[in-house]
Amino acid sequence: MENKVDILMVDDRPENLLTLEAVLSSPDYRLIGLRSGEDALRYTMREDMQNVAVILLDVQMPGMSGFETAKLIKDREKTKDIPIIFITAINKSAEHVLQGYQAGSIDYMFKPFHPEVLKLKVDAFVQMHRFHQNQYDYLERLVRERTRELIIASEERVAWEKEMAKLARLNLIGEMAAGIAHEIRNPMTTIRGFLQMSKKNQSMAVEYIDIMLEELNRANGIITEFLSLAKNKTTHFEEAHLNEIIASMQPLIQAEAMLSDKHFHVNYGEIGSLQLDEKEIRQLILNMAINGLEAMAPGGAFTISTYMEGNAVVLKLEDQGSGIKEEYVEKLGTPFFTTKENGTGLGLAVCYSIAARHRATIDVKSSSKGTAFTIRFQPAG
Ligand code: ADP
Ligand code: MG
Repeated sequence: MENKVDILMVDDRPENLLTLEAVLSSPDYRLIGLRSGEDALRYTMREDMQNVAVILLDVQMPGMSGFETAKLIKDREKTKDIPIIFITAINKSAEHVLQGYQAGSIDYMFKPFHPEVLKLKVDAFVQMHRFHQNQYDYLERLVRERTRELIIASEERVAWEKEMAKLARLNLIGEMAAGIAHEIRNPMTTIRGFLQMSKKNQSMAVEYIDIMLEELNRANGIITEFLSLAKNKTTHFEEAHLNEIIASMQPLIQAEAMLSDKHFHVNYGEIGSLQLDEKEIRQLILNMAINGLEAMAPGGAFTISTYMEGNAVVLKLEDQGSGIKEEYVEKLGTPFFTTKENGTGLGLAVCYSIAARHRATIDVKSSSKGTAFTIRFQPAG
């Protein structure tokens, strides 16, 4: 029987500590909860650290942040080899800061995390800890590889992690909203004042007015789209039929298509009704239709189909456009990701958040011949 190993969990919120405790609880582990970076450092100085297999560190804490705490832990001889798993809601800054550390003894989990994945990671570090210090480097690599294999082995888990990463991105949106509104409203105020002035003295060239109006509309569009991403937005679900929603939008999309010399088709399948927020679904279809039309050269066709797949109602939107580069597919749905000169990069973010609220999944297939977005709605159960 092997001795228990120590696992330090550092988080300022007691409820998070409780969650970690519930996830990791095991007769093999002694779980030590600490409420701040300062407490963690104090602990590492006073206690025997030989038995600590891994430290879980919340990144966002008042006082000393997770990253600062980690730096001080890694700076000390006694604790420099103890692996750290950062738990963070923020993707970018974590990646940025992590570059500074030696790979191998650092890992991270993005909130919201899948408990099984965290367990797997911790387990891997615990096994690693149990081997002799001399074999540390070799085994570290081995365990990492095994963990990766385990994760890859289960397709479902990979899909789940991707889903989680997307959810984490959606959380970010709320945090970014305040900053964005500020960014956009300032120029809007200026432009509006300018326009009002020029109306009085009439000396401004018409083309400048047009440009300013365009900017104004664009800024306004960003705000509107952005607010529709806001987190705790209330959605009004009512029994509705996808086919009817599409039919009501058909003239609009048809007109858009004709303007740029493209075709538009609909294949209405025999599908059941769903609990939907009709306004949101219209928005989703419109955003995807505009993207599809924009991606195609004149002559191309954009097709919307509905059909059943088992119990699920499927909405498929296909274009014959230029496709999406493989390295960009992962980024779809991230706010502000755009490859267009005048894009907002918010259309798909809106679609993903609408789908999430409807518990629908979005699947993307893309090649140089075109792109298909498949949205699967689960029937109300
Ligand atoms: P925007 O249209 O303002 O760029 P979106 O969020 O609607 O923002 O789309 C983000 C990016 O995803 C686009 O810039 C484009 O690169 C890519 N994209 C989305 N839909 C398609 C599509 N149907 N075909 C090709 N690329 C697409
Ligand atoms: Mg778009």
